[in-house]
Amino acid sequence: MRILVIGQGGREHAIAKSLVCDSQVEAVFCCPGNVGMHQDGIQTHPIDALAFEQLSEFAKKEQITFTIVGPEQPLSAGIVDYFQANDQLIFGPTKQAAQLESSKSFAKEIMAQLNIPTAAYQVCTSLESAQAYSRTQSFPIVIKADGLASGKGVFICHTLQEADDVILELFNHLADKVVIEEYLMGEEFTLMAFVDQEKIYPMVMAQDHKQAYDQDKGPNTGGMGAYAPLPQFSECMTTEVITRVMQPVITYLAHQDTPFSGILYAGMMDTKEGIKVIEFNARFGDPEAQVVLPLLETSLARIIWDLLHHKTPSIQFSNKTSLAVVLARHEYPEQATPKQPLPEFSLPKSQVYYSNVLKEGEQLYTDGGRIFVAQQIGESIDQVREMVYRELEENNWTNLRYRRDIGKRFG
Ligand code: ATP
Repeated sequence: MRILVIGQGGREHAIAKSLVCDSQVEAVFCCPGNVGMHQDGIQTHPIDALAFEQLSEFAKKEQITFTIVGPEQPLSAGIVDYFQANDQLIFGPTKQAAQLESSKSFAKEIMAQLNIPTAAYQVCTSLESAQAYSRTQSFPIVIKADGLASGKGVFICHTLQEADDVILELFNHLADKVVIEEYLMGEEFTLMAFVDQEKIYPMVMAQDHKQAYDQDKGPNTGGMGAYAPLPQFSECMTTEVITRVMQPVITYLAHQDTPFSGILYAGMMDTKEGIKVIEFNARFGDPEAQVVLPLLETSLARIIWDLLHHKTPSIQFSNKTSLAVVLARHEYPEQATPKQPLPEFSLPKSQVYYSNVLKEGEQLYTDGGRIFVAQQIGESIDQVREMVYRELEENNWTNLRYRRDIGKRFG
């Protein structure tokens, strides 16, 4: 098989790496990819993830067996529809089905219709209606821009003044529709699954650490580290998320003539009243992919090939524990200042999945907020955490920082 991966972050690095180690795979290409992929034998080509015509031409020229889409933007812009119209095999949801992620109001309306447990909400299409609704709520409340905002469109507001400021800012700059939600309290977790129309094949559960600083302090980020599986939850939790959440949504979409194929990501909260959905994504999470995929013992290429041909795939995960720590610029999640040299480092036992790294001459530069993740597999969370942090601490990170409590439970 010759496989094309679309995207350029750590998630795509983990997907491509999982494919490249597979004897059934002849070549792996990534567009546009990143510099860290070269050392793993992944071929990168500087074609933008939204340049559908060029990507499709490239796939034809390279005789690509099938394409896998990493990020949400090309999915919500219709890359799957484009490739399918050109009779090219591609794994991911169509533009219509990807609305589960690209429109929070679309997802909320389906959940309401199907009685799927989620935070109480209101969709507001004007500044005035949003301000009026927020005045009827007890605080904190959560305010979300309706469209894709790379994790930057969600605000937890503790006072009416904060809510007014956020609503004003969103309607002025980011959105013409907002969703205002009840604030959910509990432990957050993620279940990702391979989906082929009405069939769902779950992965192991994972937990991301969203806040910028230790002990869940500071602003929300795209994720500062993750681990999988989650010993605090039993197998029953996976079954519950599938039966109460994923299956009804997937069956509904299939019956609406907009079947979902690809990766379904359910972001969940385990509240006192039971599980509730925070959000759906229509692709692998980042950094969840970087912890879950290394645990996959069966061939990812084969799984996707089988799903694309509506066959039941063989899926087996290791019983070990995987943990990843994100190295980020000090200012993250604030906008990073211009590129800086990436400090030299040595992480011989960790897998390193790059995201915002550039190469000029022989020098690597950081070019964004999250730079790379360091990931390892161990026998238990305590053991693997010790292994990853021991390696990180042996280096001098100058302009990078990381959370020191990934995988540590605190009450
Ligand atoms: P991402 O791009 O990181 O997936 P997003 O922009 O799609 O994020 P959400 O996942 O809906 O936004 O929210 C981001 C984070 O904000 C969640 O992971 C969760 O920690 C917090 N959050 C969202 N909604 C709620 C809620 N109703 N109650 C409590 N916390 C919430």
